[in-house]
Amino acid sequence: MKTLKIAIQKSGRLNEKSVELLKNCGLSFENYKSSLISPVSNFPLEILFLRDDDIPEYVQDGIADIGIVGENVINETEVDVSYLQMLGFGKCSLKLAIPNNSDITQLSELQGKSIATSYPVILKKFLAKNNITADIRTISGSVEISPGLGLSDAICDLVSTGGTLKSNGLKQFGDVMHSEAVLIGRRGIENDPLIIELIQRVQSVLRAKETKYVVLNVEQQNLAAVEALLPGIKSPTVVPLAEEGWAAVHTVIPEKDFWNKISKLKAAGAQGIVVLPIEKIIL
Ligand code: ATP
Ligand code: ZN
Repeated sequence: MKTLKIAIQKSGRLNEKSVELLKNCGLSFENYKSSLISPVSNFPLEILFLRDDDIPEYVQDGIADIGIVGENVINETEVDVSYLQMLGFGKCSLKLAIPNNSDITQLSELQGKSIATSYPVILKKFLAKNNITADIRTISGSVEISPGLGLSDAICDLVSTGGTLKSNGLKQFGDVMHSEAVLIGRRGIENDPLIIELIQRVQSVLRAKETKYVVLNVEQQNLAAVEALLPGIKSPTVVPLAEEGWAAVHTVIPEKDFWNKISKLKAAGAQGIVVLPIEKIIL
């Protein structure tokens, strides 16, 4: 049987979550920091640990069949790959930022200014779309210190919380793109049965992450009101309790409306609410 290859970041912001996702998919492998390739013992897959910058091209060229990388890197390298699944981690934005004391107030005022970035391709397209010509200075790291050193008037860099900008005396000025980690594949690989199987596993893990399993007790007279608040995957499971007139309700609710739902459930008469994490949801 052929063995597929997946490229993930060797170390850095996406490494841990990528490894965790693959492990949650039931893949068993050693995660030695020193190795470049790790075989998966229970699936025909090898894991290649690479610098994130190399992943899109490796996947496009078929050196790896699939890979996990930030959309920012995919766009910057301008590769032709298929998006197999958005992964919901590694969220960040590529933003323009200027010094707190800059007199620039709107985008058009970047005309003729210098902007330091590690993302010249994305920035160039963004500026062209906004009819701005600026001097793009490509630097590979620590972009945020360049205005302070007098190297540029503005920067275009990845931001998640904005703390780095703040501590360098910079303020956000505009969004260039939003990004998150994506599972990509070389063109055509999406029809491979092993890839289909892997994507299904990934989706079941992601679905489970977004939801909670809730068990609660309710008096029969309040059951209809409580049920009305619970969508479940199909509908809630209702089990009579030993105590006459009471029932236990089991259901799955989205994490995002969790607190909102819990207070409404309590108001509708739910008691003894137990919330449990879900490992996988296979539809
Ligand atoms: P490598 O050594 O693999 O080249 P790197 O230094 O280029 O690593 P990291 O800083 O580890 O990259 O970031 C990897 C990816 O994490 C980014 O390309 C981006 O998609 C995502 N990311 C999420 N939040 C941030 C953030 N605040 N700053 C930078 N990248 C972020
Ligand atoms: Zn990198």
